[in-house]
Amino acid sequence: MNDLSPVIAADKAHVWHHLSQHKQYEQIDPRVFVEGKGMRLWDATGREFLDGVSGGVWTVNVGYGRETIADAIRDQLVKLNYYAGAAGTVPGAKFAQRLIEKMPGLTRVYYSNSGSEANEKVYKMVRQIAHRHHGGNKWKILYRDRDYHGTTIGTLATSGQDQRALQYGPYPDGFVRVPHCLEYRKQWDVENYGERAADAIEEVILREGPDTVGAIVLEPVTAGGGVITPPEGYWQRVQEICKKYNILLHIDEVVCGVGRTGTWFGYQQYGIQPDFVTMAKGVASGYAAISCTVTTERVFEMFKDDASDPMGFFRDISTFGGCTSGPAAALENMRIIEDEGLLDNTTRMGERVLANLNALMDKHRVIGDVRGKGLFCGAELVADRATKEPADEKMVQAVVADCLAQGVIIGATNRSIPGHNNTLCLSPALISTADDIDALTTAIDGALTRVFG
Ligand code: PMP
Repeated sequence: MNDLSPVIAADKAHVWHHLSQHKQYEQIDPRVFVEGKGMRLWDATGREFLDGVSGGVWTVNVGYGRETIADAIRDQLVKLNYYAGAAGTVPGAKFAQRLIEKMPGLTRVYYSNSGSEANEKVYKMVRQIAHRHHGGNKWKILYRDRDYHGTTIGTLATSGQDQRALQYGPYPDGFVRVPHCLEYRKQWDVENYGERAADAIEEVILREGPDTVGAIVLEPVTAGGGVITPPEGYWQRVQEICKKYNILLHIDEVVCGVGRTGTWFGYQQYGIQPDFVTMAKGVASGYAAISCTVTTERVFEMFKDDASDPMGFFRDISTFGGCTSGPAAALENMRIIEDEGLLDNTTRMGERVLANLNALMDKHRVIGDVRGKGLFCGAELVADRATKEPADEKMVQAVVADCLAQGVIIGATNRSIPGHNNTLCLSPALISTADDIDALTTAIDGALTRVFG
């Protein structure tokens, strides 16, 4: 291994890291990863890690070191690297067609570069529809407590995770919060919890006035907010409510999209038909920056008008939405998932993660709840099973650190929901084997014993 100390020095001197408290960071030598293959990573010291979170934030769905994706990108780049705006590109057109084949009922793909941007496009579309088709009404967008949709001011206005948003206001008007649906932390003492949680959305619509509400944005399975799987009956009721009040349903698949839950999209687990779907992370597994905003012909038609009207179309562009590396990588990423049967593998391995975590519940009373869909699973840690008091955040972080010391990378819900940053997360690549899964949960077992006794 080369001496990487100059790299580490440059990193410490000049890189402002994401989500990092640099006061703390100055005291340590940052870890620099230099190589990845499959589920494994190597750092600058040559140490090997098993990655249980697909690149830190649930992104590298098909694993590291995929030469065929690198080849597809290279072949495309030397032919044509870029063209943006009104003209098309070959991979852009091909990937849109392949994607739409996986999404019955949806027909149009709008390219940009990040999850935040893909979501922001929807908010702009909804507001423009309000101007053009609802006489300025139906411009509000509902979002859910504990969900997250991005880092821009618009998407932060829909952050259900307070600590991410608190210091960046004031925010634009028209974004209204609805309650979350985590059954483990019941807000209503009823039998049909899913329907009740969805009815809470209807209550907000009625309070705001149905004529003012244009759309609702929801994660199919809430990711960073605690790996929250929806309770039985929730989605059916949400869909009914949207139909009843003519509210567009926007599903944020930035995390769940492209295989993570065992179907191409998370919403397909729950039999719903969205009006907008946004996706980013898994689209090209982090080999290129690409995000997509996908919608229906009905929505698309609302933006068609007389060619001479300068306001009659979606007045938006994303400069790097014209990079051909994104759709070229995404096409190959999709081929890999199909040819290697990774959706079925995700379902099978996801069941194994849940079975292993449930078995750990018998041994570790600190595990209060286990939940997940496909290879997107969480274990909520509690100080007391009876009261469900969340485990101390520092102890949760100590479990993550213990796993890291064992050479295993796991995650925990980000520090964004005061008092509720207590869920361990596992989201390994869709190529995981039974041995990989067992290694991840064995590491957690050891860590829980050492941290909690
Ligand atoms: N939506 C969800 C559900 C996310 O988890 C994220 C990122 N973690 C985003 C949107 C924002 O994506 P990006 O960081 O690519 O802007």
